[in-house]
Amino acid sequence: KTEPLAQIISKAEAQRFYRTREKFGHKGTYGHTLIIAGSYGKIGAAVLASTAAFRIGAGMVTAFVPKCGYSILQSTVPEAMVLTDKEEEFLSEITYDFEPSAIGIGMGIGKNEATVSALEKLFKNNKTPFVIDADALNIISENRELLKSLPKNSVLTPHPGELKGLVGKWKNDYDKLEKVKKFSKKHGVVVIIKGAYTITVFNDKLYINSSGNPGMATAGSGDSLSGVVAGLLSQGYDALLAAVFGVYIHGRAGDIAAELMGYEATMASDIIGNLSEAYLDLF
Ligand code: AMP
Ligand code: MG
Repeated sequence: KTEPLAQIISKAEAQRFYRTREKFGHKGTYGHTLIIAGSYGKIGAAVLASTAAFRIGAGMVTAFVPKCGYSILQSTVPEAMVLTDKEEEFLSEITYDFEPSAIGIGMGIGKNEATVSALEKLFKNNKTPFVIDADALNIISENRELLKSLPKNSVLTPHPGELKGLVGKWKNDYDKLEKVKKFSKKHGVVVIIKGAYTITVFNDKLYINSSGNPGMATAGSGDSLSGVVAGLLSQGYDALLAAVFGVYIHGRAGDIAAELMGYEATMASDIIGNLSEAYLDLF
């Protein structure tokens, strides 16, 4: 029996993907997410991603931020541990003294030269599952040799602008999907094409998400998705499941937020705040 090349992801599929929390689980069971994000003026990206990682169920979260982010993280996400770069305003050297279960990287980090070399070093020989987003994607697009050291089974989360950098301009939707399939196969990564009806691509297969709404077209919405997917990877979901299930739950949380607040007023923190309702709505 051949499997279909495209699958619509709605509640029934999400119910099948969901993994129950173990009665005797402890925080170690649900993993330790490392969020590497933020720069001067964009520390909020680290706050949103870290909070989302917790709300999706990660056992522990550490945020790695430039020095200027220290007090912000400690006061807005007291549950998180915080490590800082030696630089005040951007990332220049990423070191940590524990083994993360998953890493979410790139949200609001900018493209400082020092940040580019920090990423090069971090990716090299790293076996941790990654979620790669935002400026980390832009850095990869501009330094294509980095594509060779991308950890296999990483999840890339480009919005249309970032995707263009990765796969080049496309002629139409069909061409776009073909380009992304090829890219996914070549580099062994899962690609989440964000937008209305987000499509997750892995090798030849497409997973079309059914949740989400235009209220989610708001700053920080993508940062929260990165935290969600990284938090799921930490809990042991494999890359494809973390991507497909994460996109569904994130969209569902956005739908519940919009039911309560309307499209216009919905902010990224409201999406994160309704991850709980999205989980509760599964069953
Ligand atoms: P970013 O551009 O990185 O902040 O990511 C935007 C997030 O919001 C992604 O998860 C998108 O799928 C979601 N999003 C943006 N616009 C829409 C829309 N019109 N309908 C549904 N989801 C959207
Ligand atoms: Mg983004």
